[in-house]
Amino acid sequence: MYIHFPFCRLRCIYCDFYSTTLGQDTMASYVRALEREMALRKNYLESSRVHTIYIGGGTPSLLPTDLLHRLFEAIGRLWTLDDKAEVTIEANPDDVTREWLEGLRGTPVNRISMGAQTFNDDILQLIGRRHTSQQTIDAVKACREAGFANISLDLIYGLPGQTFEDWKDDVEQALSLNIKHLSAYSLTFEEGTRLDTMLRQGLVEEADEELSRQMYDHLLDATNKAGFLHYEISNFALPGYHSRHNSCYWQGSPYLGLGAGAHSYDGKRTRRANLPDIKAYIAAKEDMPHETEELSNDALYDEYIMTRLRTSDGIPLDELSEKDRKYCLEMAEPHLLRNLLRIEKEHLCLTKEGIFTSNDIISDLMKIDN
Ligand code: SF4
Repeated sequence: MYIHFPFCRLRCIYCDFYSTTLGQDTMASYVRALEREMALRKNYLESSRVHTIYIGGGTPSLLPTDLLHRLFEAIGRLWTLDDKAEVTIEANPDDVTREWLEGLRGTPVNRISMGAQTFNDDILQLIGRRHTSQQTIDAVKACREAGFANISLDLIYGLPGQTFEDWKDDVEQALSLNIKHLSAYSLTFEEGTRLDTMLRQGLVEEADEELSRQMYDHLLDATNKAGFLHYEISNFALPGYHSRHNSCYWQGSPYLGLGAGAHSYDGKRTRRANLPDIKAYIAAKEDMPHETEELSNDALYDEYIMTRLRTSDGIPLDELSEKDRKYCLEMAEPHLLRNLLRIEKEHLCLTKEGIFTSNDIISDLMKIDN
């Protein structure tokens, strides 16, 4: 289950997620609308047992914890939460106060995913984050003291002005905080963001490819030395701490997405996207405004390739139909010859070199764009 909480105090200049800085006074109405959507769609998943919940955003740590309790009560009335369920909430470091952590008591939250992004205060300010590096350090400690051992941090590399030394320091600081999981993304200049405008105005520069590679290489080395498993292109976890929620997406499991802008998948071939419109979401009397898409066989194949190839397990070739397997191997051949892909125990995987050109490789293996 995914719950989208599309409110942020400030917009970070690189972000193109659906969220708004307005209407924080409507949070209670938004939670009531979420409860309505839950009741309306309680049978969307075939099973009434929920194995993972992820509250993402936006900034879910802005949600007053009494409203968070209400959400979990509603979930408890409609579904059975598995005893070992992974329940994650995303948090901004400056929201992680003792009161907030205290407010999480009594909820099933057992994993906190924090957007650190970098430990360089000048860059944090430039990219519009509202926290400092010290606040991240304090927040992680406070989470652990409050009994939350399963903490994940997000970092971004290739940020404007970020040097290799800065990145080394970011990775070192993150790993020194005794976290269980690290997600590290290469900065992308998404169309329509302020960062993209700044790039076009020449106010910031894109990190060159050489530097990005160096940074990624360092990330692989440092996480490996710290005992982390590299289980997806951008994700690293200590044994037993991979994100079960994200792994569900990558394995094509069904999921129910609740909230404005949230996506759902029935595990067969239907995707549903709630419209990114908080007002319309709150005002909805019947089903929330949404669009659905029936995936063709080719689209299902493409999704499978796209998600599986990003994981360290790669594509289990024996799960493909004879026809798809033949197509996939034919398209993979030039990359196998160039050592960008490898086959290990019937799984087609990216090599370390292949990771750097993974988008091109994935697109070559897909059907719809070819
Ligand atoms: S990165 Fe997170 S906090 Fe920043 S604008 Fe996007 S959703 Fe909001």
